Amino acid sequence: MKTLTNANARTLPDAVALVQQAHRDGRQASFSGGGSDLLGLVKERIITPDVVVNLKTIGGQDQIAPVGRGARIGGLVTLDALSHNALVRRQFTVLADAAEGVATPQIRNVGTLAGNLCQRPWCWYYRNGFPCYKAGGNRCFSFAGENQFHAIFGGGPSYIVHPSDTAPALVALDAVFHLVGPAGRREMPASEFFVLPRRDPARENVLGDEDLLAAVEIPAPPVPPVVRRSAYHKVMDREAWTHAIVSAAVVLEMDGAVNRRDLLLLRTDRDTRVVELSCERLYMQYQHTRLTMDRPVQPPAPDPGELWDHEQPAVFDIRTTQELFGAVDRELRTADVVRVVDTGWLAVDAFRRDVEDLLAAFRRRGGRVEYQGVVPSHAAPSSHC
Ligand SMILES: Cc1cc2nc3c(=O)[nH]c(=O)nc-3n(C[C@H](O)[C@H](O)[C@H](O)COP(=O)(O)OP(=O)(O)OC[C@H]3O[C@@H](n4cnc5c(N)ncnc54)[C@H](O)[C@@H]3O)c2cc1C
Ligand code: SF4
Repeated sequence: MKTLTNANARTLPDAVALVQQAHRDGRQASFSGGGSDLLGLVKERIITPDVVVNLKTIGGQDQIAPVGRGARIGGLVTLDALSHNALVRRQFTVLADAAEGVATPQIRNVGTLAGNLCQRPWCWYYRNGFPCYKAGGNRCFSFAGENQFHAIFGGGPSYIVHPSDTAPALVALDAVFHLVGPAGRREMPASEFFVLPRRDPARENVLGDEDLLAAVEIPAPPVPPVVRRSAYHKVMDREAWTHAIVSAAVVLEMDGAVNRRDLLLLRTDRDTRVVELSCERLYMQYQHTRLTMDRPVQPPAPDPGELWDHEQPAVFDIRTTQELFGAVDRELRTADVVRVVDTGWLAVDAFRRDVEDLLAAFRRRGGRVEYQGVVPSHAAPSSHC
């Protein structure tokens, strides 16, 4: 193992400054959270830092704090603490389950959330010192080699999948990542933090060499009558102690029969609440409602093995298209802007009229409507805002 210096950071900007100083001195530097992954990479000489900047000495970053009805999770919170935290388990179950499913109790006791999200790939070529893209080289050995745990969709030029269990859970929860770097602090949605190898085959996220992930913020869950249900499911090639072959992080926000996330995507741009409304998905719900209208709701008898925490399945009560649009209207009441997407579906006359009524009511309440894409000419609204 190469000789290295440990530098204990006192604050987040101090940590960045320590890495910058090392670079100015012509030395390589790495951040260390729990060190469970980093030190393995160093021991195997896959990375060779001269300075390891220890983040664990920064106070207050290992806390989970409520922010309104949401939560701020410091980057140094361990996976074990995350999986047992009462607030996270109650409000963000998918994340608690994902953290609980990582590796082993020993790794969860030292591994931090930020370290889990920033861990390097576990492709055997990279981990065995092959000079592939991820190691700064210019080829992928898995493409024509051992690739049975690699990407089926969206791969190339590197074909390894992202190893973190907590990452998909945070993307599904619309989390916001807080970064600190030489230019100061910045925030971005979890979905924009991770990048495909097409953008940069050597990296898995947007962090530069002197940037760190400070914390994660999760927005508030919906308020009743909307009910959130979330779960994480991980398929492995053995019972424990390994990464997923495939995993699914699912978040549903049910308003009666409507999973609002099927057609609405809520985002906060600073203080502005923006809702993306998919006309295509709303149309699918609309058609389904019309076809089943006034039929008695008779849920099939559940298979006991499929019950969620032994709860009986909800009996959905949306029967008419008015009720469907009423549910969407309730959702829009908390928004400032509606961004209408998949506008081609507004070509269907009866549907378009209902959508326009919905948006007109939103405008009357002071909201702004933006259309993305071409609006069919006979469906063109009088104004775009
Ligand atoms: C046997 C084994 C099985 C595993 N199974 C799983 C699994 O099933 N699911 C799963 O998700 N993971 C799994 N892992 C990975 C494990 O979860 C991670 O190694 C661990 O979470 C890393 O946390 P850490 O705090 O120790 O990170 P560290 O080792 O400290 O850091 C990991 C990487 O992140 C960088 N880093 C750390 N903190 C920051 C920060 N704040 N900002 C920017 N960069 C940072 C480091 O420089 C390093 O590159 C497994 C690991 C092992 C060894
Ligand atoms: S899949 Fe990625 S990590 Fe594996 S050999 Fe190819 S470039 Fe390297």
